[in-house]
Amino acid sequence: MNSIFHNKQLTLLNTFGLESVAKEFFEFDTEDDLIDLIKSNALNNKKILILGGGSNLLLSEKIKAMVLHSKIKGITVINNDSDTITIEAGSGIVWDDFVQYCVNNNYYGIENLSLIPGTIGASPVQNIGAYGVEAGDLIVGVTGIDLLNGEKRYFTSEECCFGYRSSIFKTTYKNSFLITKVQFRLRKRGILTLGYGDVKAEAESMYGGVTIENVRKAIVSIREKKLPNPDEFGNAGSFFKNPVVTNELAQKLKILYPELPIYQLENGNVKLAAGWMIEATGWKGKTVGSVGVHEKQALVIINKGGAMLNDVLKLADMVTQSVIDKFGVELEMEVNVF
Ligand code: FAD
Ligand code: NAP
Repeated sequence: MNSIFHNKQLTLLNTFGLESVAKEFFEFDTEDDLIDLIKSNALNNKKILILGGGSNLLLSEKIKAMVLHSKIKGITVINNDSDTITIEAGSGIVWDDFVQYCVNNNYYGIENLSLIPGTIGASPVQNIGAYGVEAGDLIVGVTGIDLLNGEKRYFTSEECCFGYRSSIFKTTYKNSFLITKVQFRLRKRGILTLGYGDVKAEAESMYGGVTIENVRKAIVSIREKKLPNPDEFGNAGSFFKNPVVTNELAQKLKILYPELPIYQLENGNVKLAAGWMIEATGWKGKTVGSVGVHEKQALVIINKGGAMLNDVLKLADMVTQSVIDKFGVELEMEVNVF
C-alpha cells in the first residue's frame, strides 16, 4: 500500500501559494489503494481534506487533517454512437488536458471550459462553469468512494444536484465522498456556444472562424489576457460567486446604477456581476499588505507575496462590507477554506 506522509508541505500544491503544512498526506493511483486505507481504519475519527489541484482552496498554515490526493488516471470510452461519445476520466487527470483531448478528437461541448485549472475530480464539485457552459451539462455520472465505509457509489447527473457553482459534493458530501471517476457525454457534431462576451469575435478575427479548435484558442487567449497566472500571482480564480437576487431588487438597483450588468435566470431571479460591483466600490487594483484585488478583474483576489490565510480573509471581509454598504447585497465566497 502507498505510504502516509507526515508534515507534508502544501505551499506548492495550492494555486494561491499560501504557506501550509499537512499533518498527514496520502496520495493514491487506484480506487483499491484508497479502499485499503479506509479498511485499515487509518481515517477513523480524523478530519479529512480532499485535495485536487488546490485551485479553489484557501489553506490554513497548519492542516490538522489527513489530506487525500487522487492520482487516478485513465480515459476510457464507455459508449460510442453516431451522435455522441461517453467517456470516463480518472479524477487525477488535469482538467485542461482532458479538454485538449476532446477538442483534438472533435468531441463537442467542453471547449468553453478551456484553461480552467484543476483536476477532473473537482469538476463536478462546484460544477465548474465558464462562457455559458457548465460541467454539469456534460456529466452523466460520477463514481467515487464513501470515506466513512469504503464503499463505491455511483451518482447519476440528477443525483449530483448541480446548481450554480455547486453540487451535492460541495454541500452534503464535502470531504466525505472522494470522486474517483467522472463520466462525460460529448457530441460528435458541432453546436458551439458563442453567446458570451468576445468569444465569437476573437475566434473569427484572430483565428479565422468558429471551429471547435478556434473557440478553444479564443478562450485561452481571452483568459490569458484577463486572469492572473497563478505562477506569477497566487490566486484561486473568482473569489466570490455572482449574487442571485430577486427581480424586484435587481430592478431597484438598476434604477440607482443603470450600468450594473444583470442577467435574467430561467427561474425568474436575476444574477448580478459581482466583479462589476466590487469595481464600483473602488477596490479594483487596491492592495492591503500582502494581498490585493486584481487590476484587470476585481472578482479575483491575489497573493502579492507571502500572504497567509488571515490576510486574505481580512481583505475579503473589507470587500464584502463595501459591497453591502453600497448595494445592500452580501457576497458569498466561492473558494473553499480549510
Ligand atoms: P481543489 O481546489 O483542490 O478543490 C476544490 C474543492 O473540491 C475542495 O472542496 C476539495 O475538497 C474538492 N475536491 C477536489 N478533488 C476532489 C475529489 N476527487 N473528490 C471530491 N472532492 C474533491 N472555476 C470555474 O468554475 N470556472 C472558471 O472559469 C475558473 N477559472 C479559474 C481560473 C483561475 C486562474 C483559477 C486559479 C481558478 C479558477 N476556477 C474556475 C476555480 C478552480 O479552478 C475550479 O473550481 C477547479 O475545479 C478546482 O479544481 P482543483 O482540482 O484545483 O480542486
Ligand atoms: P466577464 O465576461 O467579464 O463577465 C462578468 C460576469 O458576467 C461573469 O461572471 C458572467 O457570469 C456574467 N456574464 C457575462 N456574459 C454573460 C452572459 N451572456 N450571460 C450570462 N452571464 C454573463 O467574466 P470573466 O471574469 O472574464 O470570466 C469569463 C468566464 O469565465 C465567466 O463565465 C466566468 O464565470 C468564468 N471564470 C470563472 C472563474 C472562477 O474561478 N469561477 C475564474 C475566471 C473566469 P458567470 O460567471 O455566471 O458566467
